[in-house]
Amino acid sequence: MFRKKLPGIACDIDGVLIRGSHNPIVSSIPAMRMLRNPSSPYHIPFVCLSNSGGNLEKSKAEQLNHLLNLDSEISRLNAEHIILNFTPFRPIIEKYREKSVLIVGRGKINEIMQDCGVQKFVNMNEFRSLESKTVDKLPTFHKKFQSLKLPFEKWLDISGIFILNDPIEWETNIQLISELLLKNCDIPVYSSHNDALYSDEFPLSRFGLGGFNSVLISLLKKINNLDKKLVFSGKPLSLTFECAKERLKKIADGNKQEISEFYMIGDNPNVDVMGGKNNGFKTILVRTGVFKDKGNDKENPADYVVEDFNEAMRLISKLEKLELI
Ligand SMILES: [Mg+2]
Repeated sequence: MFRKKLPGIACDIDGVLIRGSHNPIVSSIPAMRMLRNPSSPYHIPFVCLSNSGGNLEKSKAEQLNHLLNLDSEISRLNAEHIILNFTPFRPIIEKYREKSVLIVGRGKINEIMQDCGVQKFVNMNEFRSLESKTVDKLPTFHKKFQSLKLPFEKWLDISGIFILNDPIEWETNIQLISELLLKNCDIPVYSSHNDALYSDEFPLSRFGLGGFNSVLISLLKKINNLDKKLVFSGKPLSLTFECAKERLKKIADGNKQEISEFYMIGDNPNVDVMGGKNNGFKTILVRTGVFKDKGNDKENPADYVVEDFNEAMRLISKLEKLELI
């Protein structure tokens, strides 16, 4: 049977579609409405591929629908269109359903664990309270603690550490992770990305989780002489780009389409362009986020450089001979 060939588009979120959690990049709104236009003859396979997290995919989809004015049922993005930093870890997290895990980072990380079916998880505040035996000061955890009827020792018997987003109090988090690893250096540590910088509403780029990972690894080495390898998800790693390809193929398959070419649109040459190139995507660099130079990036040149998401869509439309825009 004839299958229509269409491009599969992966697009970064921060610095391409939005800036910070409340501000859309205005020029991306009409392009996104066009891309998701319910009356378009094309249903382009599309996913958002972000190193942000601390929230469920469906909540991120709702946030984008709101900011980008995607209001009709067919044009709206949903969880299948969103790959966040922890999303490629989902199959690994699900293997810890019966085990005790420590979760680290800001945001709704408890909800992520619940959504993956893990029950015996402790976040940093709870873990600290367990160590000092002040668990009753945290009412929600006290309830969980009582309902699962596990002694302190069981909760403290941590089998895996998941850093699901950048933590707020770096020193406390590093201290407690180090103590755990000193007791048992074989506990695997999964960190949902290793991207050092990100762009939001501040004029200068901010330190991301990659910064936290670096400090943790170097202190473990310097103070404890421990060479600890973390397991990473997130861009620019293959795990994340393979997840995006699989998702795009699945969407195309559902629409009885085939992917003609994979495209990655991003604002950060070190993660979006490098990762895209290494994993078989045509890369399009925009100037609305981290990258702002004239010309192309010197270290990780993209296949194409354009001003913004709108221009990126025009370019794909031209390359693929589609009348998208
Ligand atoms: Mg970005």
